[in-house]
Amino acid sequence: MQTLSSYVSGKWQEGAGEGAVLVNPVTEEPLATTSTDGLDFAAAAAFGREQGGAALRAMTFGERAALLKAMSKSLHAHRDALLDLAIQNGGNTRSDGKFDVDGATGTLAAYAFLGKDLGDRKLLLEGAGVQLGRSSRYWGQHILSPREGVAVLINAFNFPAWGWAEKAACSLLAGVPVIVKPASSTALLTFRMVEILVEDGVLPAGALQLVSGGPGDLLDHLTEQDVVAFTGSAATGRRIRAHQNLIHRGVKVNVEADSLNSAILAPGLDPDGDTSRLFLREVAKEMTQKAGQKCTAVRRILVPTDDLERVRDELAAALEAVVVGDPSRSEVRMGPLTTAAQLADARCGIETLAGEGRIVTGGPEPVDAVGVEGGKGYFVQPTLIENTDPANSTEVHRLEVFGPVATIMPYDGTPAMAADLVRRGEGSLVSAAYGDDVSFIGELITGLAPWNGRLYLGSEKVADMAVGSGAALPFLKHGGPGRAGGGAELGGLSGLRLYQQRTAVQGDRGLLNRVLPGKD
Ligand code: NAP
Repeated sequence: MQTLSSYVSGKWQEGAGEGAVLVNPVTEEPLATTSTDGLDFAAAAAFGREQGGAALRAMTFGERAALLKAMSKSLHAHRDALLDLAIQNGGNTRSDGKFDVDGATGTLAAYAFLGKDLGDRKLLLEGAGVQLGRSSRYWGQHILSPREGVAVLINAFNFPAWGWAEKAACSLLAGVPVIVKPASSTALLTFRMVEILVEDGVLPAGALQLVSGGPGDLLDHLTEQDVVAFTGSAATGRRIRAHQNLIHRGVKVNVEADSLNSAILAPGLDPDGDTSRLFLREVAKEMTQKAGQKCTAVRRILVPTDDLERVRDELAAALEAVVVGDPSRSEVRMGPLTTAAQLADARCGIETLAGEGRIVTGGPEPVDAVGVEGGKGYFVQPTLIENTDPANSTEVHRLEVFGPVATIMPYDGTPAMAADLVRRGEGSLVSAAYGDDVSFIGELITGLAPWNGRLYLGSEKVADMAVGSGAALPFLKHGGPGRAGGGAELGGLSGLRLYQQRTAVQGDRGLLNRVLPGKD
């Protein structure tokens, strides 16, 4: 069995002991082990800061952009092998694997494109500057410079490719080296990606390190200029925020946590029109892509009371048509969850949600999965629950069942009630609204915006171009308020902010113009 080593302090190093076991979630057979016991994380952090940081800060944005482009090309050259690992260790279908792997290479390429435009600059100006005195001779300007630390990128199990690459694209372009820590259960894909980049010699020494396995005492060794970019459950997010060393040293922390995302159907739509069809198609996809194990998956479906019965039945039929089984088979549309613990949690969660309503299709029972022998694998059926009293329910607005599971519920067709139900999720990554009516959508945006990181509008005019609410795009912000962690990633160049120090500089405007880049 393969042992995944970590790439720290410029060399591959194995941890001591047996470590965690990675399995194939279809066969339940072990694939690899990881351990970080005994690794010197103080030395790794220092190596990143001293070697990787110095090398990256010496480069211009244009040169760092070229590194991202080279990373994207190098990884894309191994696309098929990487997709095989997503299938083996993540239980992904090939299409799910592409969402993750192409998402990674695409985001690196997108930031390479943004960085290229910044050319020879090494730091950025923010805004146009401001007159501070009686005349414009006394001037103020905000600047953004790379932090002189390392960025520790802690990732969730469900995006072992995109999860670290989208963070690394921003950090490396900002000039900050990274230490990537994938979730242990699906670390195989991340491990191979880093191995490819090391083999190809794409990055300067210390710019990219890998921790394959538990975080050990890594966070104890972070200092003032370092950054932690975390993605995972709200519970782990809270633990990281409360970490004593991170608090005492003022380490910058970004948290991307869980989220009860909603899809809202506007009232009065033609059931056979493009918007209604788009809604059905996308909700079914967002529930079942990656077996519902996406932070942006739709969990709550709000439908006008008059449309509830019809939409419920149409959606149930779409979910029943999804072929569940061994994701390496071409006819299979949905694979298993990734671990046995997740399967147990999802079954229990379905029962909790069903306690406030009823199961329309699916449920917690074992699945007869296509191409899988002997009841093996962590499979859950696509499950739709109906809750007819969402205003007096709590679990549907509290519990994220991390699988192909969502609850459909009625609302009175007003933006006010839709927004009220969404808010009960206490902050979401994304809400999707399907409708063409200007006043309905306008009021809904006002009600939803403070509670969401992103709003996705599905309507007739964009039905043929829509990408689905679950796709986090490099040029738009990813991250939501409250329960979703309060973090912000991506969003074009604003995605670099986490890794930059923002400094106000005030003084003689003529002097500022001469010393700061981009000034006349
Ligand atoms: P998790 O159990 O919280 O683990 C996330 C990461 O944190 C893993 O790499 C884990 O490492 C690490 N970790 C655990 N304890 C730690 C500690 N004390 N210090 C430092 N790191 C620690 O979450 P998960 O099960 O992997 O992911 C599922 C959750 O992530 C879901 O709730 C989902 O909604 C959320 N998610 C959110 C987003 C988003 O962008 N908002 C994206 C994807 C997923 P080990 O695996 O080695 O324990």
